[in-house]
Amino acid sequence: MYEPQGVSILGVTKAVLGAPRVARVLVENGITALGDSRIENIRTMRESRIRADFTLIRSPMPSETQSVVEWADTSLNSELDVISLLSHHAERRGKRRGDRHKIILMVELGDMREGIMPSELGATVEGIVALPGVELVGLGTNLGCFAGAPTTDCAMGRLAEMSTSVRDTFGLALEVVSGANSSGFEWFGSTRSPQLINQIRLGESIFLGRETRQGNKIPGLFTDAFTLVAEVIELKRKPHGPAKNAGRDAFGRIAGLEDRGTIRQALLGIGKQDVDPGGITPRIHVEVLGATSDHLVLDAGDTRLDVGSEVEFDVAYSALLRSMSSPYVDKTYTPAAREDPGRHVLTP
Ligand SMILES: *Cc1c(COP(=O)(O)O)cnc(C)c1O
Repeated sequence: MYEPQGVSILGVTKAVLGAPRVARVLVENGITALGDSRIENIRTMRESRIRADFTLIRSPMPSETQSVVEWADTSLNSELDVISLLSHHAERRGKRRGDRHKIILMVELGDMREGIMPSELGATVEGIVALPGVELVGLGTNLGCFAGAPTTDCAMGRLAEMSTSVRDTFGLALEVVSGANSSGFEWFGSTRSPQLINQIRLGESIFLGRETRQGNKIPGLFTDAFTLVAEVIELKRKPHGPAKNAGRDAFGRIAGLEDRGTIRQALLGIGKQDVDPGGITPRIHVEVLGATSDHLVLDAGDTRLDVGSEVEFDVAYSALLRSMSSPYVDKTYTPAAREDPGRHVLTP
């Protein structure tokens, strides 16, 4: 879908903590540029001999700039002071390797997270080009993550225009216009000008087969590549409803439980420390009632669950990220059980 339009994919591995097994699958299937928000994950992939071009997609912390230059080829940035530190470390390193650290300058276009304001473009570019250890290779923007701002022709057009203006003002032809993430899927499918951008940064749509804006399934992709499995540690018939004189729960909230009378309640050995309980969907007919740090509470309905049963869940992005981050969740990799979903081959 993207390649014929001249748009390359930066595979974003942060949801799987840069798991080398997963990164290798991406690279073997043609995604040779990988991005992660944590330099530790990039280091893990590099040390596991994943051969890719690596981009740090969160603006570096000043205190980690030395390791960013060491492990990442490129980073997304929005602060001249940080870029200056990157340049300093790259220069010192360059005495051995002779290459500059590449910078993609992020622009704020409505999501209210990272990026320079468009009015600061000229001054910031001027500052970057004066630094000997770094090379400005592109502009980028991130939408749909914090404020939920949409990816539109207008936003992508502004980014492309800014790139042209850098070329005209500084004689600098930028290679990369890094426009969208998985929330830009709809825009890409409906726009007549996908070529406004030439790079898209994708995590969720690759791993979970969904676009981010509406959570819609992307035709031809699997949504169950990841399965969360948890074990029943208690199963009893119990009343379920608001406690008398209820105070705050373990996380400081008023529980406000719904009165269900007597239910078959299942407790699973997994909790908020390991998963976002709002981001999981059981694959059997049970209902998630809530969770504390270490327990997940289910209404087991009339299923045949018992102590020791395993319950499988589909995960949304938040749940995938947290489960992958929990040292208490074992990660196992199994070969694909089914053939590729060729029955819905995408047509451009
Ligand atoms: C997380 C992230 C992405 C990837 O987002 P998905 O919705 O998973 O595709 C892209 N760019 C930046 C800057 C990010 O932080």
